[in-house]
Amino acid sequence: MSYIQFLGAAGTVTGSKHLINTDSGTRGASGFQTLIDCGLFQGPKQWRLKNWQDPPVPARAIDAVVLTHAHLDHSGWIPRLVAEGYRGQIYATPPTVDLCAILLPDSGYLQEEDAAFHNKQKSSKHDPALPLYTLEQARNALAQFSPLDFGKAMQLSPEIGVRFVRSAHILGAANGSTRVCLFTGDVGRVRDSEAAPGKIVHSGPTEGESPDVLVMESTYGNRAHPHDDPRPRMAQLIRDTVQRGGSIVVPSFAVERTQKFLFLLHSLMESGQIPRIPVYADSPMAIEAVKIFLKHSEEFTDATRQLIQQYGSPFHWPSFHFATTVAESKKINDSRYPCIIVSSNGMAMGGRIQHHLLQRLPDPKNLVLFIGFQAEGTRGRQIKDGAKEVKIFGQIVPVRAQVAALEQFSDHADAAELLTWLKTFRKMPEVTYLVHGEPDAAAALQQLIQQQLGWRVEIAKYMQQVELGSRSSK
Ligand SMILES: [Zn+2]
Repeated sequence: MSYIQFLGAAGTVTGSKHLINTDSGTRGASGFQTLIDCGLFQGPKQWRLKNWQDPPVPARAIDAVVLTHAHLDHSGWIPRLVAEGYRGQIYATPPTVDLCAILLPDSGYLQEEDAAFHNKQKSSKHDPALPLYTLEQARNALAQFSPLDFGKAMQLSPEIGVRFVRSAHILGAANGSTRVCLFTGDVGRVRDSEAAPGKIVHSGPTEGESPDVLVMESTYGNRAHPHDDPRPRMAQLIRDTVQRGGSIVVPSFAVERTQKFLFLLHSLMESGQIPRIPVYADSPMAIEAVKIFLKHSEEFTDATRQLIQQYGSPFHWPSFHFATTVAESKKINDSRYPCIIVSSNGMAMGGRIQHHLLQRLPDPKNLVLFIGFQAEGTRGRQIKDGAKEVKIFGQIVPVRAQVAALEQFSDHADAAELLTWLKTFRKMPEVTYLVHGEPDAAAALQQLIQQQLGWRVEIAKYMQQVELGSRSSK
């Protein structure tokens, strides 16, 4: 029997991992095992602890990994899988391979930084605190990446083939179309950049698909994005903060989102809408990330390309600084005058943003500005939802800074946009499984699709196995 098993992003939005087991005479009783995505859990603790558990299928028993895109909630567990003995290929589109080449080592580096900090502060219950994987382990994993172009079909085994189609989420993001199953990974904004002003990549998700089984994300299944230009409010928030002598801390995904935001900041400075204050992009790969952003500009929306044409490379802008070393990062803490700090990770669950929040959250003069999705149970979500205090590196930190969010920068389609995309399908899937959504979002989207399209929709449960090519599930 062939089946799909949901090993992550089921009941939550992170930790995407879906196992396809195709019954195969050639592989004996265990079948041919393909993992679609291999992401980190980043949400509530009960999910994050699963990062430390072995998957139900040992790493060595997995035959192939297919990666939809580079975001860590889809790719961030790959170094651990390889460290635990996975020896096969990791298939992804060329831009995804490029992005992983900086994101995964960065992730390993930051986990080492965090573990070292915990050990210095003795703030972890574990002695010594260990990184989930190291920079070196992440680098080693890169050797197993194998680029596969959009649209090209490839046979993984006699029973299973894979083909990537565009999903318009971030650079290189793809739907993995495997056999008769379509795994959406994350689905990008459907409409143009007029309606989605924060949108970065040019295309919409590929239309006219006809899968038998659809496994789709549901992050914004119960929400609608605002369609107005984020800049006026962004400028107002920054002006107000500077006026009261505060600084602005922006948790942001390190590639693409951060760069687009930097371009908008620069344009606001050039047009005199915000004062010229120092801007720090603080990430071990801040410089690499800018290079990647500029390299793939052909993939971007007209609005984004225009910004790049008009303003050139951020390396030449006055008052913009790119901190790559720990020493440079620490120096930002000394800045007593208003400044803007953009740092990752975007949900404040790891990385250098934690140090900046520790430093700046207690002062009511400062502003914490969210420009990305904050999953349930993350520190980012707690702060965004108005928590009075949060725990960072074992310390209780009071939240007195102003907190604001700009939703326009989302790279995920909202409920209406997902529905617009589904309406382009050439036939109704036999069954649709919703993953990558919090329970409320998935339930709302399930209802919407059932009512508007009459499709059979189920919400995937963690560890659930569903039979492929048959209507029953166990
Ligand atoms: Zn994503």
